Amino acid sequence: MRRYIYSGLFVAILILLYFVRAKEFERSAFYMDTLWEVKIVSHVYPKRAFNRVFAVIAHIDSIANVFGNGELAKINSGHRVQVSRELKEMLEVGIKIGNLSGGAFDVTIYPVMKCWHFFHDRYVPTESEILAALQKVDYRKIEFRHDTLVIPEGYGIDLGGLAKGYAVESAIKVLKDMGVRKALVNGGGEIGVIGSWKIGIRHPREQDEIIDTFTLVDAYVATSGDYERYFVKDGKYYHHILDPRTGWPAMELVSVTVVDTSGVWADAIATAVFVLGREKGKKFLEQLGITRYWIYTREEFQNLETTE
Ligand code: ADP
Ligand code: MG
Repeated sequence: MRRYIYSGLFVAILILLYFVRAKEFERSAFYMDTLWEVKIVSHVYPKRAFNRVFAVIAHIDSIANVFGNGELAKINSGHRVQVSRELKEMLEVGIKIGNLSGGAFDVTIYPVMKCWHFFHDRYVPTESEILAALQKVDYRKIEFRHDTLVIPEGYGIDLGGLAKGYAVESAIKVLKDMGVRKALVNGGGEIGVIGSWKIGIRHPREQDEIIDTFTLVDAYVATSGDYERYFVKDGKYYHHILDPRTGWPAMELVSVTVVDTSGVWADAIATAVFVLGREKGKKFLEQLGITRYWIYTREEFQNLETTE
């Protein structure tokens, strides 16, 4: 009898040790123009899980990248290619958010992004350049024919507003399938978690400062900020989230953070709300049933505006 008790105790201690000794492992890499940080809680270094996660992120990067010769780059240069499941899923969400936001979110913003040189060299386009590019912006013109995609000549697709969120969600799904019970995937501020994690929201004007914190459990959070890609020229602030109605940066807000059960939806919704502004954005979020969000306006941080 005593022997059984001892061996039972031994097993119990082993089980306890197993759980106590789980550690947080981290790996990071650069994809989609941003730093990706993946944290996995495990007893041993989860090499296979890290490898698979980064393979998925790299794969989505190659599909959605407008540079190089991946799937989207080919489509944008006029080639008729077979559309992958991933690209189809991203476009479907983009088109849905386009409809729900009344066109504030538009995946065919590419010609206008090009006009702005993708915000790489502080170039401010002329009004006529923007107006010409806007003629080629309308997500409703995207057509799926069988398994290929057709867009009118001169049109182009830019998935920058949702691809990171899609990659985060794909990475989380892979980890769940592998049986991981606690993990965090952060792709430049688009975050997905398995289990419970404390999340900080970046201050829109003070780098390295946190404006709020909250607990995220088995969900996704996305932030759209005007500080991710911007420049100041002649005292004016320009950034990469464009209003498809004007072709100019949307200027009412500085940052929008949204919690949702889908990473790709959260990402697209945050960008859409950024364009819609506070009042319309709130209505849009309400309509989608989203209750956890943070909206910060430019007015609130005027004193912190960079002028050169
Ligand atoms: P970040 O890339 O900083 O996380 P967002 O998710 O808001 O920010 O995405 C901004 C990107 O989305 C831009 O760099 C551009 O590629 C694309 N974009 C800009 N304006 C729009 C828009 N109105 N609708 C859809 N995509 C947009
Ligand atoms: Mg987005």
